[in-house]
Parts: sequence; structure tokens; C-alpha cells
Amino acid sequence: MPYIPQLVLCTLILVAGVAGWTWGPVAPWALVLLLPLPHLIVLSGRNLGGAGSFRMGALVTIVGRFSGVFAFALLVLCCGWVQWLRESLGARLDLEGWPEANFIWVIFPYLIFEVLNIDAQSRASCAEGPGRLSWRSFHLRMFASTLIPPATYLAIAGLVGSNRWLRVQVEQVELVGAAVFVALIGGLAVYLPALFKASWRTYELPPGRLRTGFEEISKSVRFNSRNVLVWDTGKMMANAAIVGLLPSRRVVILSDALLSDLDEDELKAVYSHEVGHSHHHHVPVFLAWSVGVFLLADFALRAFDPTNAIAVLGIMVAFLGAWGLAFGWMSRRFELQADLFAMRVLGSGRPLVSALEKIEGTLRDKATWRHFGGLRRAHFLDECTQDPAGALRFEQKLKRVSQLGYAICVFGLVAELGLMAQGLPEDRTWAALGLGDYPSAQDRVERITNPDPSLERMVKRTLDVEVAVGTSADSLARAWSRWQERDLKAAADWASMAYLQGNLRAYLIVEILEFLEGEEPLRGSLNPARLPSPWRVELTGALEAARQ
Ligand SMILES: [Zn+2]
Repeated sequence: MPYIPQLVLCTLILVAGVAGWTWGPVAPWALVLLLPLPHLIVLSGRNLGGAGSFRMGALVTIVGRFSGVFAFALLVLCCGWVQWLRESLGARLDLEGWPEANFIWVIFPYLIFEVLNIDAQSRASCAEGPGRLSWRSFHLRMFASTLIPPATYLAIAGLVGSNRWLRVQVEQVELVGAAVFVALIGGLAVYLPALFKASWRTYELPPGRLRTGFEEISKSVRFNSRNVLVWDTGKMMANAAIVGLLPSRRVVILSDALLSDLDEDELKAVYSHEVGHSHHHHVPVFLAWSVGVFLLADFALRAFDPTNAIAVLGIMVAFLGAWGLAFGWMSRRFELQADLFAMRVLGSGRPLVSALEKIEGTLRDKATWRHFGGLRRAHFLDECTQDPAGALRFEQKLKRVSQLGYAICVFGLVAELGLMAQGLPEDRTWAALGLGDYPSAQDRVERITNPDPSLERMVKRTLDVEVAVGTSADSLARAWSRWQERDLKAAADWASMAYLQGNLRAYLIVEILEFLEGEEPLRGSLNPARLPSPWRVELTGALEAARQ
């Protein structure tokens, strides 16, 4: 996934733009002026190198890889792109609640800039002709496949957000939210092979000696898979992978460059290495650890219940860091275990080592986050041949790591389900308020022993409402009349109700009212300018008076 850093940066820019950390005028026409920027940066990097300024050229080339992101940053942060869209589409475009379909228009310029960047890169790295065409088409496909998971998430979130009942259930009832999340991740895991197949150019490995050899290996270690695919990268990438969790859907993928560079024994070694990952359940172990660490972080957040955003961020960064270290540690050792598996299947480590040599050029000892260097991997196979007992100890250690991961995951899931089940009656009462079903909320809160005081208070407020089904407009009108009576507490409660019922801007009213009541400190982000008109004028005045 070569475009992940770009996508992460793009997301950060988006968040900053939507949160209003922008400078400069609202100038949407800058989009047109920025279009030539990727070509300008990338080609000037090449020309500098060509003219002998190698260091400057190299620097500009590195910057050039991010020229699409750079142009997007200028548009969003300095030319008011988000602001303009809000005004011209009447769109909300904020980070609260479910993402709305209009986010497509926010991201759209980035897609154009990145495609232009890919075109510029193809011109800088290949001479005109079929080479350049295949370079461009390969990178466009890689870019498209990186977009698949976030696009799927946005599409499903958009669907959930557009259905009022489902949205309220997912937001208020933790068990429902968790079920939707699990279904989403599970669906992605199952259908990932099909999605990749659609965006990458692949075809079945034709029948012949090689395919028969692979099938014999599969049979000897009882490995089932749907297919062996050749990945057409225009000979640009020597890589192999196993994709998919279910035996009926998983496929082994070998790239065209790998097939043309390696001989039959080396390819069998690579294939066995991939089968080794599946044999030792490496992906389920990673998933178990990831879910386990995620749930532990959730417990830490519940236990300390930090109110300031920095503390929440600190806990999340600490857990993400721990997960990253653990993931890297395991990944490098799982690679060794898959190597060991391949050596046992073929009866020799030689083909795998020579395959690694060919892929890496000469064996360098260059480790990455996920792999040890080839030299270390070759040494490891030597050691295992000389000391089988040591190899056994190594595998037992990994087995304990796997079991620990499963244990943490199961423990976390049981505890989390317990907490969610415990909170279910309150969650469903909140959901009833969110749907405006006051009789049901009144009925439910009766049956809870020691309900959350704020929930109890909110339900009590609905007792004197005549309508059977409340709406957010209705609740906001009530908040307004309580505000006119200077009953801040009641006004804040009705504004919260409007927020629960889908008016996301009402949350800002709640925050300002709570500050005016002296309950919450004022945060810098409170800006009444984003409020609807009667509230905007009055709350701006009240805030100014309170600040003096
Ligand atoms: Zn591997």
C-alpha cells in the first residue's frame, strides 16, 4: 500500500481544514491555479538532477512524491476550500456525528492532484512509450486500491447516517455500534481478495509444471485456497502475498517480476513461505492482538475517564505506540517462522535464500519494521539446521505469544460485552430520547435502579410534553423558550435533546450554555458564528458579557 502516507497526511489536512485551522481568503478558483503544481515540482526535481544539482534535485524529487498532498494542503488550508463548500452547498461538514456524503467534494481536488502527480512522476521516471504507460497504469491502480478501505467505510457510514433509526441506535446503544463495527471489519476481511482483484490487474496462474508443483505443496501440508494469481505490475514489483481469511476465499498472489526473475525451486520456496503464514495463523494472531490492545485502551479510557483532550490523545498514542512495537516484533519473527516452514517443506533452505538474494539484489542486512534483512534471515535458517532444538524453542515462544494474544482478546471481548450489556438499559433509554419516543423513555427509566442523573433529569423534562414524537426542531424551540426565561439548565437539557435527535450544531449551544452556567470551562473552539440566527446573536452577546 504505497499511498498510505499520502492518505494519512490528506486526512490530517482535512481534519485541520474542517476544524477551521485555516489562513487566507476564500478563493475556490485557486483549484485551477494549483493544477499545474504537481508537474512543476516533479519535473523541476528531474531537471535539477539532470543539470547537475544532484542534492537539490534529490530533495525536490522527495518533496515531489507528495506534490498532490501539497497542492491539496494549499487549497484547504490557505484558500478556504471547506468554507466555500459549506456556504455554496449549505453543507455541515464537521467532525461530529456521521460523515456526510458532501465530504466527497472536500476530497475531490486531492484525487485530481494525486492523479496529476502520478502522471508527472511517470514523465520523470520513464521515457515516452509503453514503459511510461504501464508505469502510470500500475500506479493509478495502486492508488485506487489504497482508496478502497476508506471509501467503503465512508459509504457504509453514509448509509447508516441516512437512516434515522439506525443512526440513533448506533450512536446511543454501544452493543449495536460494536456489532456494526465488527460486521464492517469482518466484511472487509472476507471480501478484501475480491476488492484487490478488482483494482489490481491479476490473472490465474496458467496450468503447467509450476502450478502442479504448487498444488503438490498445498496437498502435502493440507493447505486450501481458492486460487494462485499472477499480479501484473508491468514488472515493477517483485512481491508475493497471501490475501483473505477464509480458506474458500483466500488467494496466493505472485507478481510478474517475481515469476520472471526466480527459477522454479525459488518460486516454490516463496509459495511455501506464504503458505507458512497461513499454516501458523499469523493473520488471526495479529487480529487478536490488535483487538485485544484496542479493548485495553478502551478500558484505560473508561477507568481514568480523562476529561481533557490531551489526556485522551496521550492514552491513545501510548497504546498505538505499544501496538506498533509489538506488531513489528511479531511481524519480523513471523517472517522467520514462515521461512522455517518453507525450509521444512522443501527440505532445504537454499532456494529461499537464493530467492531473497535475487529480490534484494545482494543480501544486505537491512531490517524494516516488518522484515529482518535477508542476511539475518539466511543466518536464522542456518542456525535452525544446526540446532533443531533451538528452532523448536523459537517456535514454542511464538506459540506462547499467539496464545497470549488470543487470551487478551477473549478476556477483553468478554469484559467489554459485560460492560455493554450492563449499560444496555440506559443506552436504550438514550436511544428512545434520540428517536423522540418520550413515553418509551419514561417507561424504561422507571425500570433502571440508580439511573444516570442526567438521563433521569432529561426524561423528567419530557413529562410535560404533549406531542407523542419529539423532533430536533421541536426540542430546539423548547430550548429557546427556556433560554428566554433564563432557565439555563433546562435550556441546555433541551439543546442536548435536539443534539441527540440529530441536530449536531445544537451541541455547540449545549457547550456555551454549560459555560454560562459556570459548569464547564470555556474552550477556545466555541465560536457562536456557526450557530443559527437567533442563537448566534444572543449567545455571542452573552459570551462577551461573561468574558469581561
Ligand atoms: Zn512473509
